[in-house]
Amino acid sequence: MIINKSEIAGLLDNLVKEYRVYAPVQKDGIVTFEQINEGTQAKPGATSKKPPKEILFPQSEELFNYQVDSQGLRMEDKIDDTKSVAFGVRPCDAKSMMLLDNVFHNDEYEDVYYTTRRKNTLIISVGCNQPASTCFCTSVGSSPFDTDGSDVLLTDIGDSYLAEAITEQGKEFLCKLNLPASDDQAKTKAEETKKQAQLTSEVDTTGIKEKLDDMFDHPYWESLYEKCLGCGACTYLCPTCHCFDIADEAKDCAGCRVRNWDSCMFPLFTLHGSGHNPRTSGKERWRQRAMHKFNYFVERYNASACVGCGRCIKNCPVNLDIRQVIADIKAQPLE
Ligand code: SF4
Ligand code: SF4
Repeated sequence: MIINKSEIAGLLDNLVKEYRVYAPVQKDGIVTFEQINEGTQAKPGATSKKPPKEILFPQSEELFNYQVDSQGLRMEDKIDDTKSVAFGVRPCDAKSMMLLDNVFHNDEYEDVYYTTRRKNTLIISVGCNQPASTCFCTSVGSSPFDTDGSDVLLTDIGDSYLAEAITEQGKEFLCKLNLPASDDQAKTKAEETKKQAQLTSEVDTTGIKEKLDDMFDHPYWESLYEKCLGCGACTYLCPTCHCFDIADEAKDCAGCRVRNWDSCMFPLFTLHGSGHNPRTSGKERWRQRAMHKFNYFVERYNASACVGCGRCIKNCPVNLDIRQVIADIKAQPLE
């Protein structure tokens, strides 16, 4: 099916009447993925500074609240089942949601706050015609037109997008929009566009999991962390990072439980109530970050917890580049 770019604004205005709609929006030079209203000028496919993972896993969310009064204890669960559409997600960010699914819903555990949002959110992706210099998705098992995690994939073919349904939900969504069918010319153009999308940045990740199996006590970690400020930007902006902390906020006979993003790069993240901290310095924290992404996650879910979006590279204040870390790990001699 075909969506003319000139009709995107009208399409989004119609969608907001039926769904909660999220899309990339540019404000003060920064692109953020946020809930839009009628008339909001969206930029589908623009790479947001913060990843759209917060649509499913908000930076801060109330899980439930309670009140004790003369009638006893009353509790309200804050499960959010609003029908939503995330419009204009990058394929790497859509793939990250598929990776997060493993964490929030597996054989042992289901996080209903995440899974309810996930079931009720359609992911409409826009392929990357021109990957940025910091993108390296092809090095971590993905590509600029990866369909993993998306319900619909849009390919920018000039004045319009070719829309392909990836899932049954995506198919139903497109059918409801009554869009014109795509012709052979549009399909050919989309195929050419996909072939032309070249990444300029690559890093060889083959065998990194096995290499890390033998590197827990390696001297490499002694130097890697030295210039790291421990600011946590790399983890907060990472679409696959998912550490969180739970806080209970109470006053008198009422209160709520809140979940907030946390970061393995913060010293307090592993501080025990006893005062003991098993990750005493940046060395242990950086090792944890690298190990989690390229060893522990691979062992558990058979995929690295990195989709090559490049956000941590662009935003690290001291230019610690995860691609260089991967290359350095691979180059380290084992004792
Ligand atoms: S580790 Fe860096 S490049 Fe990889 S997904 Fe996270 S932010 Fe993106
Ligand atoms: S963004 Fe850079 S300086 Fe900040 S915690 Fe991550 S690696 Fe360290």
